Amino acid sequence: MTDMISTKVRFAPSPTGELHIGGARTALFNYLFAKHHNGKFFLRIEDTDRERSKDEFTDQICESLNWLGLHWDGEILFQSNRIKEYQSAIQTLLSGGNAYRCFCSKDLLEKSRAEGVYQYPRTCRNLNENEIRKHLNSGENYVIRIKIPEGQTSYNDIIYGHVTVNNSEIDDFIIARSDGSPTYNLVVVVDDHSMGITHVIRGEDHISNTSKQIQIYKALGFDIPVFAHLPMILGPDKKRLSKRHGAPGVQQFKNDGYLPDALLNYLVLLGWNPDSEQEIFILDEMIAKFDLAQVNKKGAVYDEKKLYWISGQHMQRLGNKNILDGILAINQSWGNGFNIQYQYTVIELLKVRAKSILEFIDQSVYFFNDPEEYDSKAVGKHWSNNSVNDFINTFINKMEAIENWNTEQIEKELRNVAEKYEIPAGRIIHPIRLALSGVPNGPSLFAMMELLGKETCIRRLNKALKLLPKS
Ligand code: GLU
Repeated sequence: MTDMISTKVRFAPSPTGELHIGGARTALFNYLFAKHHNGKFFLRIEDTDRERSKDEFTDQICESLNWLGLHWDGEILFQSNRIKEYQSAIQTLLSGGNAYRCFCSKDLLEKSRAEGVYQYPRTCRNLNENEIRKHLNSGENYVIRIKIPEGQTSYNDIIYGHVTVNNSEIDDFIIARSDGSPTYNLVVVVDDHSMGITHVIRGEDHISNTSKQIQIYKALGFDIPVFAHLPMILGPDKKRLSKRHGAPGVQQFKNDGYLPDALLNYLVLLGWNPDSEQEIFILDEMIAKFDLAQVNKKGAVYDEKKLYWISGQHMQRLGNKNILDGILAINQSWGNGFNIQYQYTVIELLKVRAKSILEFIDQSVYFFNDPEEYDSKAVGKHWSNNSVNDFINTFINKMEAIENWNTEQIEKELRNVAEKYEIPAGRIIHPIRLALSGVPNGPSLFAMMELLGKETCIRRLNKALKLLPKS
């Protein structure tokens, strides 16, 4: 693909908050596009808003990208270091007659807005040299506005198709504030040009900026990159995903022990339709198959259940050693006092159920400690019948006699007890599971009992007997 050899894209977060799902998806799509085309993926920190930008957010964003494995090429570009370049572009626009000083007071503009005129009425657009000098001499404040020419602005969005905007709908927007600081639309164009960006891939919320930015490209005589606007991510209520929906930031997923591969896999499906039944991908497969032309326009709904499912699938693909490493990275004392074979068997038993390492740790507690508490709903359901006491007592006696303590023998004896009482095995299995683990769900009871060992099982069952109603 020789035409794409020089593909350059960027992810350009503002460090005013941590990396969230939407930002991570934008970063991923940029990364995949770049890697698919053997191009470059750059990181630009848009920190011109000095008040809201924080170094700690920059650090968090970088850490999250690294954790996800979305490593950027070259040095990070910080906009706050590039003020000179922006000033020089503003001067070029001004001296070329493509921008002008606007001396209109805020009050005046607010008044015209109150009268229903939302666009700047272009009052200062045609001031002559003398008028300008007079304003400047009297020390009036001014902003600098771009001069939007007549006509239309069109571009081909890879995802949204052909977009045309009448220039009459584009405001003579501000490119420099009264303190001289450049505005977002100006800096983005200056940077994208000097970084040699070939494709601008960003959220659909930037569509209205794109027609403005094209004006600046044209006025500065720069080549216009290709644009691709990604569909919005929506909450389950079909409104734009926000904190209100409780979607955690990337950092939280990391702290909860999610696998980066699982999160990437989930993110890639937020908009990308791979045109096959396949839903589970690792990064290399995504790079090979990703195509922006297969991204939907329609908003993508954030679905926690799907995320958990994908996460569980990735957990199952992971080797036990990797899971153990992940667990120990969060909790160094996990499995202390139990041999490695025991630890691996716990992992093997739980691996099909847990969706994150943290959940893994939570679910594994009873393999190492006798339960201190019992799930109250399950107690009501499985321990309230007087006869449970008898079942368990009988089963303990049978267990004591087992010589070869293994899954098959344990199951055989339990089924014998069920037969003796003429009840379905479930009526014994559930109360016993609760007694052994304190929780109503878990891996195969018999496999779990084999691992816990005879002595531990009997001790725990005896403890439960004390709590059970007597027949
Ligand atoms: N800094 C902008 C944002 O965080 C992105 C700008 C862009 O991608 O052009 O939304």
